[in-house]
Amino acid sequence: MRALAKLSSEPGLTLVERPVPEPGPGEILVRVEAVSICGTDLHIWNWDTWAQGRVRPPIVTGHEFSGVVEAVGPGVKRPQVGDHVSLESHIVCHTCPACRTGNYHVCLNTQILGVDRDGGFAEYVVVPAENAWVNPRELPFEVAAILEPFGNAVHTVYAGSGVSGKSVLITGAGPIGLMAAMVARASGAGPILISDPNPYRLAFAKPYADRLINPREEDVLAVVREVTGSGVEVLLEFSGNEAAIHQGLQALIPGGEARILGIPSDPIRFDLAGELVMRGVTAYGIAGRRLWQTWMQGTALVYSGRVDLRPLITHRFPMSRYQEAFALLASGQGVKVILDPRA
Ligand code: NAD
Ligand code: ZN
Ligand code: ZN
Repeated sequence: MRALAKLSSEPGLTLVERPVPEPGPGEILVRVEAVSICGTDLHIWNWDTWAQGRVRPPIVTGHEFSGVVEAVGPGVKRPQVGDHVSLESHIVCHTCPACRTGNYHVCLNTQILGVDRDGGFAEYVVVPAENAWVNPRELPFEVAAILEPFGNAVHTVYAGSGVSGKSVLITGAGPIGLMAAMVARASGAGPILISDPNPYRLAFAKPYADRLINPREEDVLAVVREVTGSGVEVLLEFSGNEAAIHQGLQALIPGGEARILGIPSDPIRFDLAGELVMRGVTAYGIAGRRLWQTWMQGTALVYSGRVDLRPLITHRFPMSRYQEAFALLASGQGVKVILDPRA
């Protein structure tokens, strides 16, 4: 089979031939139908400091994918051969203190598909059966492939006191920020303000936002005050950008909630007393997806049509043209880019 792998400690990925893997006890073999490229895959491609510290080549990359169960290993009752599945990318240990208190999403021993073990940029992949989420057969595979990052958005929007009836600032209109805007809109938030310096991406937010803000052209705080009077009740942070994080915290009304999913590339400094403590702000760090509450909440939105993820799928490529696909995503002129592993 064909697979896209990181073969050695240097930038880039390589298309390789590998034997089709066999599922062991508790595992399934998935025939991959669609896989999308994530920002994390770009980090692995670029071989940045994070990737060098985490990824051990050789490894097949890719963690946002969907497909059909081709075979099941000994002891597997669910899913069954022929089921259409999306994959939770975090493999958890079930024994650490986080797992034992139901906080699987922050398992101390998390292994990530395509980061710590072979992932979905391949025609076939073996995964633990418990990581499969079975979808209705009519759900398009490319939509099923992006339920994983969608879960990041759902987890952020529904953390804390949610967003229903609340004013919201979303910083970062990348794929996950845009998905969060869709969820916030579908969940009765308002007004919804969204900031991003990239006009291409900001334009995708238009149907879900009451006000778009380009921080290169406008003062984010001034716009927030103009629209809301005194500030937003909820900050949803998806940029990982230091300036955006400061703007977001300062845009909150006293007593507001910050939910932060974005990951800065370096540690950042902020005014703990002025931006958080003395303003009574509650901050939530958001990691991954809650297992399996987030998948239940997210698929309820998608299956019912209350959230339509299809407009975010901007490009499709055969996996053989992966270099073009990665370059396009890196240019910021795409949102979700899908690869077909068999083409
Ligand atoms: P992305 O990099 O595609 O999107 C980030 C967006 O932020 C871009 O569109 C960029 O133009 C925008 N941005 C940059 N500077 C900004 C500023 N000053 N103000 C507003 N927007 C600004 O990323 P993504 O795939 O959508 O992921 C969002 C973030 O979440 C990333 O930081 C990613 O690393 C992180 N992430 C975290 C988890 C987790 O479990 N916590 C999981 C997945 C991704
Ligand atoms: Zn991802
Ligand atoms: Zn654990």
